Amino acid sequence: MREGRLVVYTGCSGVGKGTIMKKLLEKDERIKLSVSCTTRAPRPGEIDGVHYYFITKDDFNKIVEQNGFLEYASFCDNLYGTLEKAVDEMLEKGFYVFLEIEVLGGMQVMKKRSDCVSIFITPPSIEELERRLRGRGTEDEETIKKRMYRALEELEYEKYYKYSVLNDDVDCAVEEILEILKKESLN
Ligand code: 5GP
Repeated sequence: MREGRLVVYTGCSGVGKGTIMKKLLEKDERIKLSVSCTTRAPRPGEIDGVHYYFITKDDFNKIVEQNGFLEYASFCDNLYGTLEKAVDEMLEKGFYVFLEIEVLGGMQVMKKRSDCVSIFITPPSIEELERRLRGRGTEDEETIKKRMYRALEELEYEKYYKYSVLNDDVDCAVEEILEILKKESLN
């Protein structure tokens, strides 16, 4: 059995990382997306256990106390965390395990698991990012403003990631990531 790889996969809100991820999952069955825990309320269409485990702050804090998270962070007033055991089980099975996480969590994983692959998705421009964020229509004005502010902060972390992938064209971004995985699995 081949050994899996842990992939830190980061991009700010509205950059299109969910769309890219969906295509990656369709293209390569060795790719798995880790399901995070969050205290955020589900958006319409989001399913508990599929998109996230939607849990209370109390339950989140219990997992923190039990050292159950590989990483966790607060993002725009909500908590998000990656369940370590679930990730390691998928890695043992030989999967590329993608952690779709924000920058502070990404930095924690890079520190703890120095053999991880880190990929940062960038937008063609800030204007395009705002257009996409507004276009999806899932957030109110205050949340959009918070997420745009946070996006500008997050772009400062691009330099800590091994790979940057521009999402100008989704299919090109997907191909670029598949190439990165190919290259990294030879190392
Ligand atoms: P959203 O609320 O849009 O689903 O996610 C907000 C941000 O939290 C996104 O940047 C997303 O990648 C990030 N995120 C999702 N799950 C986790 C996690 O487990 N840990 C960390 N650190 N960030 C996460």
